[in-house]
This record gives sequence, C-alpha cells and structure tokens, in this order.
Amino acid sequence: MAKKYVYFFGGGAAEGNMKMKNLLGGKGANLAEMAGIGLPVPPGFTVSTEVCDLFYKNKKRIPEAVKSEVEKNLRKLEKAAGQRFGDAADPLLVSIRSGARASMPGMMDTILNLGLNEKTARSLVDKTGNPRFVYDSYRRFVQMYGDVVLGLRPVHKDDIDPFEAIIEQKKHERAVDSDTDLSADDLKDLVARFKAAIKEKTGHGFPEDPMKQLWGAVGAVFSSWMNDRAIAYRKLYAIPEAWGTAVNVQLMVFGNMGQDSGTGVAFTRDAATGENTFYGEYLMNAQGEDVVAGTRTPLPIVELKKDDPESYVQLEKIRHILEKHYTDMMDIEFTIQQGKLYMLQCRVGKRTAFAAIKIAVDMVGEKLITEKEALARIEPDQLNQLLRPVFDTAEKEAATKGGLLLAKGLNAGPGAATGRIVFNSVDAEAWAKRGEKVILTRIETSPEDIKGMNAAEGILTARGGMTSHAALVARQMGKVCVAGCGELAIDYARHTMTVKGRTLREGDWISIDGTTGQVIEGRIATKPSEVLQVVIDKTLDPAKAPVYQTFAKVMTWADKFRTLKIRTNADQPDQSANAVAFGAEGIGLCRTEHMFFGEGKIGPMREMILADTLEARKAALAKLLPLQRKDFAGIFEVMKGRPVTIRTIDPPLHEFLPHTEKDQRELAAEMGLSYEKVKARVESLHEFNPMLGFRGCRLGIIYPEITEMQARAIFEAAAATKKKGLDVEPEVMIPLVGHIKELAHQEALVRRVAAEVMKEQSVKFKYLVGTMIEIPRGAVTADEIAAVAEFFSFGTNDLTQTTLGVSRDDAGRFLVPYVEKEIYTKDPFEVLDRDGVGQLMRMAVERGRKTRPAIKLGICGEHGGDPSSVEFCHIIGLNYVSCSPFRVPIARLAAARAALMNPPADKAKKTASDYHGTRKGKSDIR
Ligand code: PEP
Ligand code: MG
Repeated sequence: MAKKYVYFFGGGAAEGNMKMKNLLGGKGANLAEMAGIGLPVPPGFTVSTEVCDLFYKNKKRIPEAVKSEVEKNLRKLEKAAGQRFGDAADPLLVSIRSGARASMPGMMDTILNLGLNEKTARSLVDKTGNPRFVYDSYRRFVQMYGDVVLGLRPVHKDDIDPFEAIIEQKKHERAVDSDTDLSADDLKDLVARFKAAIKEKTGHGFPEDPMKQLWGAVGAVFSSWMNDRAIAYRKLYAIPEAWGTAVNVQLMVFGNMGQDSGTGVAFTRDAATGENTFYGEYLMNAQGEDVVAGTRTPLPIVELKKDDPESYVQLEKIRHILEKHYTDMMDIEFTIQQGKLYMLQCRVGKRTAFAAIKIAVDMVGEKLITEKEALARIEPDQLNQLLRPVFDTAEKEAATKGGLLLAKGLNAGPGAATGRIVFNSVDAEAWAKRGEKVILTRIETSPEDIKGMNAAEGILTARGGMTSHAALVARQMGKVCVAGCGELAIDYARHTMTVKGRTLREGDWISIDGTTGQVIEGRIATKPSEVLQVVIDKTLDPAKAPVYQTFAKVMTWADKFRTLKIRTNADQPDQSANAVAFGAEGIGLCRTEHMFFGEGKIGPMREMILADTLEARKAALAKLLPLQRKDFAGIFEVMKGRPVTIRTIDPPLHEFLPHTEKDQRELAAEMGLSYEKVKARVESLHEFNPMLGFRGCRLGIIYPEITEMQARAIFEAAAATKKKGLDVEPEVMIPLVGHIKELAHQEALVRRVAAEVMKEQSVKFKYLVGTMIEIPRGAVTADEIAAVAEFFSFGTNDLTQTTLGVSRDDAGRFLVPYVEKEIYTKDPFEVLDRDGVGQLMRMAVERGRKTRPAIKLGICGEHGGDPSSVEFCHIIGLNYVSCSPFRVPIARLAAARAALMNPPADKAKKTASDYHGTRKGKSDIR
C-alpha cells in the first residue's frame, strides 16, 4: 500500500486521533480527536509532518505523490462541505495552518479565507448579500498571503507593517478611526491597493487560481518551519528541527459574518492562577487572528452569556467534556458563524507555574488525575517561579499614593519586575546583554519579539488581552507581563510612551506588577514570595498562604514517591537552616574553604600560608582551630543529627592571598613581614594550571597539619554537640582523590585525630571517612578506593572538567557556541553529560559497590540541582543528591519524577545503552 501522507477529519469521524501528534502535529491530532468524539469541528485534512521533511529534501517543492493525495482529500472536503473549490456559484474557502508536534504559538504562518479571487468574491457577495463581510475577508486574505507567501513585510525594526500603513492611509482619507468604519467599497479598494503594493514591491502578481493559491500557501507554511523566529523558539525550548510541521487545510468558518458571529479563545481553567473558572475572551464580528494578535481588546468570555447565550451554554458543556476526556486544562479556539458554534482547536493549555501546580493539585482533589500524574505535570524548574520575589507592599503603596501609578492593564503574567523601558526587541536584547534590566514595552508583541521578550525582566503592552501573543508567551517563559494597557500611547519612532500627560523615555525606570496589572513609574524594591515568607522568613502564617499550601502538598507527594535523599551544599548555619526548611535531609557538601573568608579567619589563614616553618604554620593553624570548630558546631546544631559531609581544604592556596601590590603591601604591614617576602610567596604559589595543580588532597598530604587541624575542629565540634545531648553524624570527605594511597594517607590521619578527640573528651560519636570522586582515575579505580572510603560523593564540576578536558572557568567562550551547534545538547556543566561523565559515574558506582556493598553514594556538583541530572543519579542508583538550598524543592520534585518515570522493573532491565540518554532519552526532550 502506498504511504499515507494526508489524514481526513469531519462529520463525526476522523482518520487520526490525539495520539498521533508526531505525525499530525498537535493541532491536527486534536482536531481529529475532537471530530472523533463528536464535537462540532469544521471538516478538513492534515498533511503530515513527514511531508515537511520530504518538502525540504525535494528542494522545497511538494512531492507529486502528496499532491495527488491532497487533491483527493480536497474532493472529499468539497463533498463534506457541499461546496466546490473555485466554484463560481458557491465557492469553498479554506484555512491553511501550521501545527508542529510541540506547540509553537504564532511562530509559524497561517493563511485564512483561501480560495477567494475576483470571481469567487463576487459570487460570495451574491450568496451572502453581505459585501462588507466578503471584502473584509478578501482583504485579510490578500494581506496574509502577501506577507506569508509573497514576502511583503516590514524590513526595519521601527517599520510598521506595509499593509497596516495602507489601511491607515485609507482611514485617514475616509476620516474614520476604526477598521470597522470602512465600507465594503473601501475594503474592495484596499484589496486592489494591496495587490498593487505586492506587485510593486515584490514583483509577484497575486494568484487568482485557487489551486495555485493552495500550493503557494502549503509550501509557505512548510517553509515557515525554518523562519528565524521558529528557529529561535525551537532553540529556546529544545525542539528538534527534525520534527517538522504538519499543515492543516480546513473548511473556513467565519466569525466576521455580522453581529451573530464571533470568535474567541479560552482556557478551561484560569491559566494565570489555576482557578477552576472558565477563562477566555471573544470578539463578535471578528476573525480569530483579531483576538490573538491583540489588535482589538476582546471581551471576557462571561459576556458571551448575553451576546449569544446558546453558544455560551454549549461552550461550557464542551469545556467539561474536554477536561474529562483529556484530564487536563485545555486551551481552545472557537468560532461562531451565524449562531452556530465550531471548535477550531484544542490543546493542553500553557500555564504559569502557579496555575500548573494549582491545577495539578485541584485535579487530584477532583479525582481527574492521580498524585503521580500530578507530579508528572509539574516541571521541577517551575517551582522556581513560586520562589520569585514580589514587590515590597509598603514601597508599592507609597509609590501609588505618591501618584506614580501610571496605568492598569491586564495581569497577564504574575510576579514583580522592575527595569528600564525599551521599545523594541532588538534593543531589549542589546541592553540586557550589557547587564541592564529592561521592560520590553510594545503596542503589541508579535512572534518576532521572542528574543527580546526572553531578554527582558517583564513585558508591557498597550493592546491585546489575556490570550494575546504577549500574554501567552510571557506566561510560558515565566515572565512578568502586563498586557492590554490601553492608556499607554507608545511612539516607536520617538522612543517614548505617554500616559496621563506624562512622557517616559527609553531608559526610564518602570515597575510592573503582573499579578495586579499595575504599571508604576520608577523602581520598586521587591521582597520574598509567599512561599519564602512562610518557609524561610516565617513571617507569614501558612494558613493564610494558599500558594504555600499547594506547594506543600506537592512536596509531600514528591517525598512519598522519591527514593533519592536530598541534601544541600551549605557552609553556614543560616544556609543550612534554609535548606532544612526547604526539606534538605543532610549536608552533602560543606566547603570549608568558604569559611576561611569569614569574619576573623582570613588573617590566620594567610599567616599559615606565608609561614616558613612547620612551627610557624602550626601556630597559625592553632588560631584557626577554634574558629573552624565554632563554625562546625553551629552547623551541627542546626542539622540536628542529620548527616553532615565536611570536605577538607580544596582550592589552591594562592586563592587566599592578595594579588595587587597595594593589598600585598597592606598584608605585609599587618603581618610584620616585608613586602618582598609576601610578593615572593605569592609568586612561588603561582601555577600555570592551578585547577590541576597543588590543590585538593595534595595540600593535606604535603601539609598534613592542615588536615589534622580541620579534623580536630570537626571532631571537637562533634564532641561538644554530643555533650549538649544532640545527635551528630560528621562525614569527613577528602577531595580530588585519584589514587587509593592518597585517600589512605588522609584517612589514617583523620581516624587518628578522631580517636584522640574521643579519648580526650571521653565521648563517642559516629563518623565516616569518604572521598569525592571527581577525577577520572578516581572513578576508574573506585573498587580500590572503596576499600577505604565509606562513601563517595561525585564532584561532577571537576569530573566534568577533567573528563571533557574543558576548564570550568574558561569554557564560556566556546561552550555557548558548542551548544548552539548542538555539539553538546546542553551545557555539560549545567546538565550532566550522561554519555561521558555519566558513564564514569556508573562505572564508579558499580565498582565501588562491588568492594563495599553498603557504600553511601551521592553527588555534590552543581548537577545535583538539575532535574535531568537528578534523574540520571536515580537511574544509576545513587543514595542522594546535594544541591544549593533554594534548589532543594526542585530536587525533591525531580527525584520523585525520576522514580515515577523509571520504575524498578525497568531499571533492572536497563542496559548501558539506555544510559546514553543525552541525545535520545526522554529526559533529553525535557
Ligand atoms: C565538584 O567538583 O563538583 C565539587 C562539588 O567541588 P568544587 O566545585 O568545590 O570543586
Ligand atoms: Mg571539586
């Protein structure tokens, strides 16, 4: 049988369904699904994503086999619609829309009203008796086709759309304000002017033949897969280029046929807050693009109850049918044509982090989904949004009372943002690049603005509703957004914004509150989010914090399913306390060297480094001992018996010394030494490659007195804590071990000190000695090392550096372009390189466990807080991950999802190739 490229839907049946997203794209699959469950969907057909690939392989031409299948389906569509394409009496008109596997809102092209020409337009006038409607549709078609297929569009960033310029000119000539004031003849004239402009500026005549129009449009939609904004969007969301887009050809239904027609978009729940209310907008007598493009500000969906009660009731019903059927919050598009409702699209709705969490939790309560499904729907990084700052209420109130409230728009993307005004996307990117915080301020945004929106702190628009492009994209990006702020008069050419008689210029500061929609002049300080106020500051009663409560529920469920323990990287009691409040179950890495920069410690530390003799060094270390002991005791107290991994000194010593002449002279004076001596010592410590130099356990081996002092400080603190009646469980960790003898040397020393302290203090405490696995030799010889080490903690920062041979401090210059070129899919210092570093980890786990089955295994590199890396740690069977305090909730959720997505039975079956996941595993897609 010949390969099938085109799938028909309509009339209560469909050849596709929602599971066929890869082939039909999201839009096509869901149109088929809705048609299949009997919802009112205009008939049509989907040209599959496979054709996109063929199209590019075929020099951007549609292959003949596909053409004939399209023609057959067109005949089928004619039959279903009872109309004929290009027919003089009753012409069939169609829409042509893109639809990729993953939603890429507005990034690719759409053409509506296709099939209109001079002849069919006239016949449609005769049929409908509504010339205004016909010529309005016709001018929109020519405008879209002229832009998308024939290429007439703005060239410069400050240019306005050439078609809009012609419309403005026409309105000016006719002395009217609104498009709706233009008559049928005016619109007819616009069609002629548009065609003339296209011919003049592009050299292309406008095709009258509907089939020619169809092929042009289908080709243009496939071509739009490779336009700049689609490419930028794919990069941003890691959507592979190979997926391609499908093309949907569907019977046109018209929302602009008069006051009994309309169009709208809606979410089955509030996409900003997650409330279980119908949330959407519509416009009567309009086409779909008017609502999404934000050129007219639409009405809230409840108003439809008055404008068309029957359609409203039907929509409410469909809302429930869809939620039950898909068990998720859906985003829908609909059109009412002369009182009859049609569904044009449905897909799982994008939502803010707040909404994602609330909807998932509520749906568990409503028994639509299980706790496990709820967890699978919340991306761990979304939790970041819940931890984001809000405006300081007092400052904001003072600003609004002081007359700085400029306007109020729609609260389209929650959160607080302060920044300097820029008026276009190019500037937003450029300013952000040089470190400025900016608010991208636009009349409306379009998909072209994607990069600028990404660079901005927040987005402010004068036009458009809650489902406008700005609002949708901002929410998806987790950006603060105030949309549809009609009072703002924005002048792109002058780079000014006038509101309430005040003119603000590019570079002026504004603050926008995406939770209330307020736009305020000047900078307003931000303060911790609700979750932080409850968890960290303890200034808010959890009972009065609904967002916190939902957050807490998710965390409880996550804890139920995860098998990985979560620890934190912390060197201070307050950091440790924050992490515990976020759910940390221990400290996975206490970098003692950070403590040396604390109050009163850098002096004796430098003294120790500058010492000429063992005695002098010991004298300096004696000064450090009580200071370190106090630090450790503080941490033990906060951690209340939870395990605490303390690492002995790691960085090269020169990091502790001053490098400028001025600072060296000051240090010399403080220490009573000559400047020359200090200078000479700094120079003697200079290394060409300090990261591979005199650092890690090498320091403790050459200067055992340093390890001895640190071990003593740890154990004396442990003894003191124990004497206070508190539990304590120190784990002494030796860094940068590559050879068993290195570890054995340090271990013997640590154990001797432990025994001495226990004897001196007449107290017993449990402790472990282990090592970091952070250089390849350590991983490869893990079986030998495990003979001594009671635990391994993977230092994946160094392990990545040493495995890839890429300096962690100098990689930025080439790693960013490397990721752009997809040499590495993600920055390997951020997301664990499973194929390389990951394989060493796996080997170390297997070899380590072989020697010591009960060995404790963890990770303390930055990857410990990255969801994909956490998943890998779960897969290879680590006991815990350790991350920075504020990432603890993210790691908890990531660990639960890892457990749910990799159930034990699967795990047992997994082979080495399953772990080669960076290019093909499911976590790669995320
Ligand atoms: C590591 O190398 O991953 C690690 C945790 O140690 P540091 O970052 O301090 O070198
Ligand atoms: Mg390291």
